[in-house]
Amino acid sequence: MTRAIILNNVSKAYGRSSRAVDRFSLSIDPGEFVVLLGPSGCGKSTVLRMIAGLEDVTEGEILLDGEPANHLTPRERSMAMVFQNFALYPTMTNRANIGFPLKLENPRQDHSARIENTARMLGIESVLDRLPGQLSGGERQRVAMGRAISRQPSAFLMDEPLSNLDAKLRNHLRAEISQLTKELGVTTVYVTHDQAEAMSLGHRVAVMRGGVLQQVSPPREVYALPENVFVAAFIGTPRINLLQAVVHAPLEGRMSIDLGRQRLPLPEPLSPDHQLLRIQQGRRIIVGLRSEAVRIAPPSQARPGEVALSGIVEHVEYQGHEALVHLNTGSRPAVVPDLESARPDRGAPRRRHTTAGGVGVLERLKGRAAGYLSGPVAVLDEPSSEAATSGARSPDRPAVTASDLVVRTGPDMRLRTGGQVPLLVDLAHLYVFDHHGRRICPLPKDVPGLDM
Ligand code: ADP
Repeated sequence: MTRAIILNNVSKAYGRSSRAVDRFSLSIDPGEFVVLLGPSGCGKSTVLRMIAGLEDVTEGEILLDGEPANHLTPRERSMAMVFQNFALYPTMTNRANIGFPLKLENPRQDHSARIENTARMLGIESVLDRLPGQLSGGERQRVAMGRAISRQPSAFLMDEPLSNLDAKLRNHLRAEISQLTKELGVTTVYVTHDQAEAMSLGHRVAVMRGGVLQQVSPPREVYALPENVFVAAFIGTPRINLLQAVVHAPLEGRMSIDLGRQRLPLPEPLSPDHQLLRIQQGRRIIVGLRSEAVRIAPPSQARPGEVALSGIVEHVEYQGHEALVHLNTGSRPAVVPDLESARPDRGAPRRRHTTAGGVGVLERLKGRAAGYLSGPVAVLDEPSSEAATSGARSPDRPAVTASDLVVRTGPDMRLRTGGQVPLLVDLAHLYVFDHHGRRICPLPKDVPGLDM
């Protein structure tokens, strides 16, 4: 049996500190695979642990198959958890480790068939009679998974189960987890901070920030239609370019977006998306350009819908199959706080952190971060600030450059640092966010009364 899991306005506060999870609502269908994604400290594990019954719910309600479940013990929920730090019993064989939960449930019964079936599914039949210490990391993680699935749980709850493994093994096991959960058809909630993992595994991805759910959508949609700049910036590699800008919509003449030193004229006739930008006249906005929206090419090669810009090459990052060109176009990047993990507020006075504080430093940082994490998803500096001239960077860009735009090219393109290059921007791929960071272009799919 697999379960429907519903969270209704669920919050969690630890002691008197601000909420680790704030009014989180999500409805998960039986057999669905949902990934909770977000930077470290945003509350993903807390949500998972509340579903498992390992953590009390401070406010709100959890329903399992439509029945209130806040009061149920973990055992009564009959879910299996797989953690990052999988703990196997070192003195028991792998066979005994996998069979352990079955033995607890029913000590007299012979569980060999179930254990062997589980091991076959995970490709670890040949190591069943060894001890965990005689296995590789990947094999040990499979034994841990075997122990979780042998009991045929009603749901899988996985908390970064692959993050201790090397990249190759992680990719391999990721594919296996996807296959296995499909075969078993069991509802799965999977926590990760790795957006590539989330995109490849989930039927839906729930993006969290500061304890607050930002968006829950299928992978394609979180990438193509991010609801705010945080989601846009968290998903996708290389990261979306986010530039501060102002809309110019004169009564007569062409509409354009002022990027500081350069302008993006909007092609006419205006698309419905671009028409709606008219009401932003004079307002500060954030322009989002994913790397596929910009290419290095002269204006003479412009296709319909492409407009010209130029940039100075600051730095070229060779990646083997491609190169990432960091350019300065004279624009100011918009800052998106909290993308990587809990970090000090850029607006607050800086304090030095040393390791002298010992183990508590990280926890203190995380705790302090919780106070502002659910603040604005974008920070715009003042146009007159020094950022405009010094080429301020987002906290997630390389420190060595003054670049504001990253563009992909083939690995063979010869580019000179300091040289000027022509760019073509495809405005069909333009994102615009308001100054709070909410997406206003492309339009939400269901704007009432809009004739598309
Ligand atoms: P994530 O899984 O996204 O990394 P967590 O759910 O572990 O985040 O933590 C969310 C927030 O709750 C963090 O600020 C963390 O420090 C805090 N937190 C988690 N567990 C506890 C706890 N037992 N006591 C106090 N604070 C906690």
